[in-house]
Amino acid sequence: NRRLLTDRLEQSISLARRESTTLAVCYLDIDHFKPVNDKWGHEVGDQLLSAYTHRLKGELRDSDTLARIGGDEFVLVLTNVESLQAVDKLMQRLLDVSAKPFRIEHRRIELSASIGVTLFPNDDVDADGLIRDADHAMYIAKSRGKNTYEFFDSDESRQLQEQRLLVQELEQGIESKDLVLHFQPRIELETGDISGFEVLVRWQHPERGLLFPDQFLPAIKDTHLEWFVDQYVLQAAIATHKAWSKAGFPVSLSVNLTSSTLQMHDFPARLKALFGKDLKQIAPYFELEVLEQSSIEDTGRVGKVMLECVKLGVQFSLDDFGTGFSSLSYFHDLPIEVVKIDQSFVRNMLGSQKDYGIVEGVLRLASAIDRPVVAEGVETIELGLLLGLRGCKYAQGYGIARPMPGDQVLPWIEQWCDGKNQWSALRYEFDGPTGYSDLNTALFSYHKWSERLFGQGETEGFVAAARENMRPAAFEDWMQGLGFVHYHKLPHWHMLEDLHRLNRETLREICAEVDAAKEESLKADLRQRSLDIEKMLVQLGDEAQEKGISIWN
Ligand code: C2E
Ligand code: CA
Ligand code: CA
Repeated sequence: NRRLLTDRLEQSISLARRESTTLAVCYLDIDHFKPVNDKWGHEVGDQLLSAYTHRLKGELRDSDTLARIGGDEFVLVLTNVESLQAVDKLMQRLLDVSAKPFRIEHRRIELSASIGVTLFPNDDVDADGLIRDADHAMYIAKSRGKNTYEFFDSDESRQLQEQRLLVQELEQGIESKDLVLHFQPRIELETGDISGFEVLVRWQHPERGLLFPDQFLPAIKDTHLEWFVDQYVLQAAIATHKAWSKAGFPVSLSVNLTSSTLQMHDFPARLKALFGKDLKQIAPYFELEVLEQSSIEDTGRVGKVMLECVKLGVQFSLDDFGTGFSSLSYFHDLPIEVVKIDQSFVRNMLGSQKDYGIVEGVLRLASAIDRPVVAEGVETIELGLLLGLRGCKYAQGYGIARPMPGDQVLPWIEQWCDGKNQWSALRYEFDGPTGYSDLNTALFSYHKWSERLFGQGETEGFVAAARENMRPAAFEDWMQGLGFVHYHKLPHWHMLEDLHRLNRETLREICAEVDAAKEESLKADLRQRSLDIEKMLVQLGDEAQEKGISIWN
């Protein structure tokens, strides 16, 4: 009865509070029970209810409570709930057992139920309040067409609802081929040559527009949809490769895999089927990216699957290296050819000693085990230079190109190969001394900045260029970060700081629109000091060498 239920519920609430566990209260109402009673009589109705209660009990644990509080209404109290997903699953099972036909006195009777669920302490109210909120959610379930369940509307439950909706929509989206592929080039730093493209999925959502993977992949984690996405992307990538080959561009493609896919023991067979009869020719153009974070727990099993794929002709790269366990055993146990350093370390490495250290560490490790490295998130050419000087083979990032739709790829390749892109000129920079590569990179960055500035001859052009290009950004990042850490004890450092400060002031003055004669003299000062700064940077290197400053410690 109601009194007993409230008592039990109150006890469960204090227990959940004490042990910091979650409690679920469900209000279940049988849909269309009245007609059963009316049609077959109360005796059948009672038998039906008792058979139904029996079924419900079968789905619950001993610690759960099932109470009948009205003719066809039940309240369930589930203690120690592990996750929303677990509740989700249980609700689905309760609906399933409700929908299974009953046989009462040779009559076949079908039912369905509507359930409302609320979770404590998320819904932080007393026993009566929880029952009321669950009841409220049950009404919403009824209003949405019955034979369903709804969570009481708190933040978390709203999130879960959205997620459920997203999964349904994505399933539909895959079916109607709403996923599209974008491509981002990877270049070889030493030559500027294109070495391939990473395939990145987007979802052309009918209402919300183009969605990025972060907006939908997390929702399908550990569900069967992960394979559907991977299969879709692989299929589309293979078709694209064939089309481009026909056009005379047999481009290498790098495809991301979700974590579920490698757990599938028959993945190699499925992959083989996707390649079809052209397996031998095409597979070598494909690389599969495996996330370091993805639970490659069982390296033995996953290793076997990967090895079979390698036998088909594809190769593997380890994605986002540095963000997970970064364990050497991966390379021992798994057939991994290429290491990709995560962009979070790369983007900041000119300014942060820590990030620089991590990138340096990965590069050294990779060189020790003889694996080429791809740096992701290379947003500036300065980063490209620094990485190249430190022995990184490939780069990928906005500084080279943003991911682009398929129809832009071939024109982009042509333009990259024809034009004098600054990346292919980078090779000349690699010939110099490589000892203090952060310093070289700062020098390079400063030089390029002043080149851009003074390349603008006349007054108007100069002021406009200066306004647009006030800061030698990478140089300043270095001044405030790595440069300071390594060299601030050296006398030249302070001269460098002074010169740079004066230059900034001068630049501001010029931009504040002084008269022509004044501007000419300020420009001359600026020019001279810029040359001094470049000289100073070279001297700083000599000084560091004399003092035996090592940039590795
Ligand atoms: P990821 O594999 O690390 O992919 C690189 C991500 O960094 C891409 O984001 C790319 O657009 C972005 N990026 C590239 N260069 C730069 C840069 O210079 N600066 C910055 N800030 N970002 C840059 P996107 O496309 O949003 O993909 C996000 C993640 O989603 C990917 O990270 C990958 O883990 C996953 N993903 C993408 N496409 C697929 C796919 O087809 N299948 C699977 N399973 N996962 C995918
Ligand atoms: Ca990737
Ligand atoms: Ca990555």
